[in-house]
Amino acid sequence: MITLRSHLGGSWFRGQGKEETLVNPATEEPLATVVTGGADLAAALDFARRRGGEALRALTFAERGELLKAMSDLFQAHREELLDLAVANGGNTRSDAKFDVDGAIFTLSTYAELGRALGARRVLADGEGVQLGRSPRFHGQHLLVPRQGVAVHINAFNFPAWGTAEKAATALLAGVPVLTKPATSSALVTARMVELLVEKNVLPVGALSLLVGRVGDLLDHVGPQDVVAFTGSGATGQKIRVLPALVRHSVRLNVEADSLNAAVLGPDVEPDSETWGFYVKDVVRDMTQKAGQKCTAIRRLLVPADKADRLRDDLIERLSAVTVGNPAHEGVRMGPLATAGQRDDVRQGIDLLARDGRLVLGSFEVKAVGAPEGKGFFVAPTLIEVEPGADAPSVHGHEVFGPAATVVPYSGGAAEAVALVARGEGGLVSSVYSEDVGFVGDVVLGLAPYHGRIFMGSAKIAEASPGPGTVLPQLVHGGPGRAGGGEELGGLRGLEFYQQRVALEGSRPVIERIAGLSVS
Ligand code: NAP
Repeated sequence: MITLRSHLGGSWFRGQGKEETLVNPATEEPLATVVTGGADLAAALDFARRRGGEALRALTFAERGELLKAMSDLFQAHREELLDLAVANGGNTRSDAKFDVDGAIFTLSTYAELGRALGARRVLADGEGVQLGRSPRFHGQHLLVPRQGVAVHINAFNFPAWGTAEKAATALLAGVPVLTKPATSSALVTARMVELLVEKNVLPVGALSLLVGRVGDLLDHVGPQDVVAFTGSGATGQKIRVLPALVRHSVRLNVEADSLNAAVLGPDVEPDSETWGFYVKDVVRDMTQKAGQKCTAIRRLLVPADKADRLRDDLIERLSAVTVGNPAHEGVRMGPLATAGQRDDVRQGIDLLARDGRLVLGSFEVKAVGAPEGKGFFVAPTLIEVEPGADAPSVHGHEVFGPAATVVPYSGGAAEAVALVARGEGGLVSSVYSEDVGFVGDVVLGLAPYHGRIFMGSAKIAEASPGPGTVLPQLVHGGPGRAGGGEELGGLRGLEFYQQRVALEGSRPVIERIAGLSVS
């Protein structure tokens, strides 16, 4: 069995201390060990800041883009190996694994292309310059320059490839070195990605460090030029926010946390119509893809009350046909949850939601195809329904990070739908499925302050769309309130977290020269 190693200070490091075992969540077979502790994390951060930061800042955007392209090409060349690891260590079906690994490859190549387009500069102008006095010579211009720290990336267990890549792509393109820490339970994929990059010398020394195992005292050593980007549970996010080093140095922090994503079905949508089918398909995909362990998965189904029974029955029919089991086994469409702890949390969460309403599909006794008897962290697709007008506090207040969703009937008006969704206190993405442009407009503008992204499902885009659960690098990802208040990706917007915005005020020719904006 292999022991995962960190890559810190430019060399491989095997921890000293408590050993933990990473398992296959479908069979509980041990796959690797990781030993946490013993690393000098202050020195590792310092090395990244000095060596990695200097090397990256010396490159132009186009050159940094080439690095991202090389990363993307390397992962593409080793795609099969990474998919196999994701199936074994993540409980992913092959299709789930592709969602993660191909998402990583696509995001890196998208940012590589942005780098190419920015060309031979090292800093970015932010908007147009402005005349500040009567004379045009007195001028102002905002610039975005790379911070001279390290980007500490702490990722959740559910996207070990994409989560690592989407954060690294923006930081590296901005010119900031990265120290990435995957969640321990599913670290095999990330560890292999970094191993490949080191083997092939893809990145400058110090540009990407890896910490496997628990976080230890890493966050005690962050400083004023560093940034921390965290993805995971709201509870961990809250702990990180108040860490003394972050508070003392005003360390920039991005939190991507829980979300009770809702999908509103419009009153105009008739059963069996194309839009109805699109809605059902997206809900079933979100509930079963990665066994519902997607931060963007639909959790609350807002349905006009007169159609709630029909929708429930359609979903029960589709979800009952999903084969749950060991994803390595032919024909399995939904795998297990990532860990025993996640399975227990999900079971407790389902119990909580069911107290607000009625369990209409799902059982904790799962017949898992191809898994050894009594092994694996399986939960069946689970549907709950609440009565029209029921208060249902846990449905709107508790994220069940698994294959579960709740049917929430509403009376049909946009204002009521918006008010119900807003009870989630901020989300990553919510959606509205309708062909009624007036209804869609009212819902979108009502939901907008509470979300980072809003998906509009209609028959016109059904063929082209991957649904609300897919995060695209061109659009921002993140959301207010419960979702952590963070924002990632969104094309060049994603770089700003790693850059310092500075206002230059002075003589126009001098400013233009510094900014590299001068045409002469
Ligand atoms: P988690 O338990 O909060 O762990 C997330 C990461 O934080 C892991 O790498 C974990 O390391 C690390 N960590 C744990 N305790 C820490 C501490 N005290 N200080 C610093 N880091 C610490 O979350 P999870 O169970 O992996 O992920 C599930 C949650 O993530 C769900 O609630 C989901 O909604 C959310 N999520 C959000 C997004 C998004 O983009 N908004 C995406 C994916 C998931 P160890 O594994 O070593 O403990």
